[in-house]
Amino acid sequence: MTDELLARHRAVMPSWMSLLYEEPIEIVHAHDRRMTDSQGRTYLDFFAGVLTNSMGYDVAEIGDAIRKQLDTGILHTSTLYLIRSQVELAERIAKLSGIPDAKVFFTNSGSEANDTALMLATQYRRSNQVLAMRNSYHGRSFGTVAITGNRGWSASSLSPVKVSYVHGGYRYRSPFRDLSDADYIKACVADLVDILETATAGDVACLIAEPIQGVGGFSLPPDGLFRAMKEVLDEYGVLFVSDEVQTGWGRTGEHFWGIESHGVTPDMMTFAKGLGNGLAVGGVVARGDVLDCFEAQSFSTFGGNPVAMTGATAVLDYIKDHDLQANCAARGEQLLTGLRAYESPIVAEVRGKGLMIGVELIKPGTTEPNPKAAARMLEETKKRGLLIGKGGLHSNVLRLGPPMTLTEEEAQEGLEILVDALAATHAALS
Ligand code: PMP
Repeated sequence: MTDELLARHRAVMPSWMSLLYEEPIEIVHAHDRRMTDSQGRTYLDFFAGVLTNSMGYDVAEIGDAIRKQLDTGILHTSTLYLIRSQVELAERIAKLSGIPDAKVFFTNSGSEANDTALMLATQYRRSNQVLAMRNSYHGRSFGTVAITGNRGWSASSLSPVKVSYVHGGYRYRSPFRDLSDADYIKACVADLVDILETATAGDVACLIAEPIQGVGGFSLPPDGLFRAMKEVLDEYGVLFVSDEVQTGWGRTGEHFWGIESHGVTPDMMTFAKGLGNGLAVGGVVARGDVLDCFEAQSFSTFGGNPVAMTGATAVLDYIKDHDLQANCAARGEQLLTGLRAYESPIVAEVRGKGLMIGVELIKPGTTEPNPKAAARMLEETKKRGLLIGKGGLHSNVLRLGPPMTLTEEEAQEGLEILVDALAATHAALS
């Protein structure tokens, strides 16, 4: 069954759409944090569809809210008409953003949200020069591929913007790795100033950054880096965009938005993924004067449709009612502590915040990336009933991003499987 579907997938879908696992799986049912595939095997989900299924599966309150919208007979009318759920959700996100006089524009994906942010920043500043972080990922549209600092995901080498990349996000493989936090921040800020002075004409539109790099391997700079960078950006009049597509909605445990760990308020934030719990929804929340800067009309047919808005509102209610930010902090601590307690020659670093945890795999006794071990770990965990992700510039980082509703027992179960799989992987490859 799966083989036949795989052959058809390969025949009709593009070659660059990769699938996980030596034998890719077809999920046919899911409930809470468990999924069942077409062969009847069940898995505990530690990747949540790349952090998309933030609340888990088959959540009654969210399903009921969406069904109630369907019962009105309306999937969508048009964003040319007033949509109450859209206005209410925008008000809520504007308030949650902490950005003064914030306004919101809804899209259908993170790529579209970042593309809109790029268009806003370049229009507002009348400059097509932008800064991004090395090892970043911001999407698959033409504009967002251009600001993605990872060769493996840069589908097009042609660019609609002039991009310069700065240091900061991926500390483990940075030339500044061994510096103290304070000196690391100083070195990255000096690099930013150097890039502004040498690689640009000064009138840069924006710097876009992920507070924790997602596709880049859940790597993160020390708290305070972006505050220090923002001081420089303010001097040069450069806007700061925080890409919260993976880090938003309390997933990092400490705060509602990832960027808050840095004690700084961005000019814009982009969001998607977890807000919809599987529904396609994204958007930009920004300073009103920035979001209002287009003179031409602009519009999204589906962005802000009532089904997505109702579902997203139910997700925000669910996060608040179940204090899921606190759950992310507690479960994250449990997983980080448990993983750090297990020493393995193939593990260089366990890092992250809340339920965004990266495990950097290396060849024993070196700092060299070990993509083979990461690939093997995916197979070993799958065999044991756990789905995880991988990523990083060298595909050598395990990514753990379970639904934010993960229980203590499930965290323990996942931890035991991970430790067991690490031992098996090391044994198999040595
Ligand atoms: N920004 C970040 C940080 C992401 O991780 C992603 C998706 N992995 C995107 C943007 C693009 O989002 P989408 O796939 O919804 O277009």
